[in-house]
Amino acid sequence: MPDKPNESDSRANDLADRLSDVAQRIAQAAQDIGRQPQEVTLIAVSKAQPPERIAAALAAGHRTFGENRVQQALEHWYERRSHYPDLRLHLIGGLQRNKVRQAVELFDVIETVDRPKLVHALADEIAKQKRDIACLIQVNTGREPQKSGVLPEDFPALLTQARTQGLPVAGLMCIPPAGHAPAPHFAALADMASQAGLPTLSMGMSHDYAQAIHQGATHVRVGTAIFGDRPG
Ligand SMILES: *Cc1c(COP(=O)(O)O)cnc(C)c1O
Repeated sequence: MPDKPNESDSRANDLADRLSDVAQRIAQAAQDIGRQPQEVTLIAVSKAQPPERIAAALAAGHRTFGENRVQQALEHWYERRSHYPDLRLHLIGGLQRNKVRQAVELFDVIETVDRPKLVHALADEIAKQKRDIACLIQVNTGREPQKSGVLPEDFPALLTQARTQGLPVAGLMCIPPAGHAPAPHFAALADMASQAGLPTLSMGMSHDYAQAIHQGATHVRVGTAIFGDRPG
């Protein structure tokens, strides 16, 4: 499929500029605390974005993207994937068990493992498809009832289950409560990961990724700062 940006060139250039601006800020935040810029991976969150913005990000050379819904991710990436062998897709939204097969087919990293039944279903499906996938456990650090993520006190049992059942868990992910200072949540997540010996930390969004990097993020999930507001 031809994947040329068909918005005006200037808008495609704007996106490339924002992408490199974010990359520079990431490098700066890493250097601030003596980390290497390449220790931090930028996940460009393309959920709810129109195809021409996705095309512009690809044209600018970006290859790591995040989506929060399996169905929309298929629409965005099912065909494109075969044209970009180095594409890396992260699932950053909640996963229902009836979408596990499709998620394992499409994604390279599933960041939202948060309950025993999902651990079980994912472990089975990954073994069946023999796909090389990394999983992160999402932790509900803010203890918000409406939010997904395992509660901190239930995390050790979930990790043990995942390890017993052979689920490849590489690290942790969190979404701090809106309107609260994110730093305590980032610190709590970093602490849990380090105690569990897990290297990957997905935390930080458009408004707080520099802070997250200061506190050890290895992956930041940035949408609007790259793509602009999500339409609709
Ligand atoms: C939408 C989303 C993001 C990106 O948010 P921005 O504020 O647009 O950077 C990051 N993480 C998750 C889990 C999301 O759902």
